[in-house]
Amino acid sequence: MASPVDLAIVGAGVIGTALARELQLRGMRCLLIDGGAPGHGTSFGNAGHIAIEQLSPLSQPGAWREAPALLLGRGAASLRWPDAATVLPWAMKFLRSCRKAQYEINDRAFHALQASTGTDWSALAAACPRVAALTQFLGHDEIFESAAARDKAHAALLAQRADGVNWRDLSATELGGLRAVAPRAIAGVRYLDSGYVKTPLGIVEALYADFLSKGGRFLTAQVRSIAPHDDAFVLNSDGAPIHAQRVVVAAGARSARLLSPLGLRAPLIAERGYHLSFSRHLPGLLRPLLLRERSAVLTPMQFGFRCTSFVEFAAPGSAPTPSKWRTLKRHLQESGIFLPTDEPRLWMGERPTLPDYMPAIGASRAHPGLFYAIGHQHLGLTLSPTTARVLADLIASDKRASFLDALDLRRFG
Ligand SMILES: Cc1cc2nc3c(=O)[nH]c(=O)nc-3n(C[C@H](O)[C@H](O)[C@H](O)COP(=O)(O)OP(=O)(O)OC[C@H]3O[C@@H](n4cnc5c(N)ncnc54)[C@H](O)[C@@H]3O)c2cc1C
Repeated sequence: MASPVDLAIVGAGVIGTALARELQLRGMRCLLIDGGAPGHGTSFGNAGHIAIEQLSPLSQPGAWREAPALLLGRGAASLRWPDAATVLPWAMKFLRSCRKAQYEINDRAFHALQASTGTDWSALAAACPRVAALTQFLGHDEIFESAAARDKAHAALLAQRADGVNWRDLSATELGGLRAVAPRAIAGVRYLDSGYVKTPLGIVEALYADFLSKGGRFLTAQVRSIAPHDDAFVLNSDGAPIHAQRVVVAAGARSARLLSPLGLRAPLIAERGYHLSFSRHLPGLLRPLLLRERSAVLTPMQFGFRCTSFVEFAAPGSAPTPSKWRTLKRHLQESGIFLPTDEPRLWMGERPTLPDYMPAIGASRAHPGLFYAIGHQHLGLTLSPTTARVLADLIASDKRASFLDALDLRRFG
């Protein structure tokens, strides 16, 4: 490449692509780089839920109580045992971040980060009609198949309401309607402010098309390393070296090995989830539906519907566990949803998760011009417009949101 680009962004998932679009809009010459096509990493297969109601990080005091079920592989969360050497040190850091004092700091920052999610999505939809056409804010439903599950959820629901989350019980008519989808539902609640997208890949493609239309450029390359060079950076890949004045690493769960030679520790894990995608619609499924006891989400999609589930702690790059798809099919059958003749598409994705369940958004102190936007765990789609805005503010205008201190990678030493 003859002259250096203003900014190279490594990783064209929903985070990197949203950021590239935002910076291109602000007049920077951006090069978006990915080893594959935009949006074909974790951002391809998520549940499509814009989870405005999730105001607190999952690393909460008392989370250790889930450990026995997780270690025994009971329930939706499990450990991929061959990856224990990667996962267990991460788990120790997770437990430290669950301590009350640390949790309270993280919780404040997470609330601040989520506070503008709705307005950032509205602004994005207003500016980008292709995003608007794929996005709806109709809320989402959560149903229970037993009174015990309903009672167990009660305290958490009340705590959410006290925190300002807008939900109400489903009426008998609404519940009756939902039984066309999930016949075993006995009760449920509706969250009123959340949204969903009709295809997560379509959102990345819409952001990408907007980026290209504003003069942005894309390069297919697997970046092997990033090296500081004369107040700029050289990105080494299989092809010719790429020169950039500034670099953002947004490579999802695979970001750590790009950052660590530059002195930034990012203890990321692949917190894996699985989906089954069906190319038929489920009549009556009008918004995302969480089957509480099965920890599974059904989402109406442009192409039919998708069912997502599981939290499987693993090393990035490990092979999927095929029994997860079988278990998910069984859950759908037991809920009365899955028809044996259906042939779903199977997918596994790596949520990029840091031990404190907080994203890392910020800049390197040692290498001015090096930035990162990683660790968006269960909420990368949700947080993508806000991440793009706050990091673009930092890069383009040196404007620093107050909560960025809590999201700095220096917290990991
Ligand atoms: C089952 C499941 C359900 C989910 N549901 C939701 C949901 O409903 N709502 C929500 O908000 N979030 C959800 N998530 C989380 C969300 O999908 C992720 O947080 C988000 O996709 C992360 O985006 P990303 O851009 O950081 O990573 P990715 O999408 O993985 O993008 C990273 C990109 O970097 C590229 N890359 C990596 N290394 C290199 C390299 N060295 N050189 C070049 N390119 C590289 C990869 O090819 C990839 O395209 C879900 C996740 C899963 C697994």
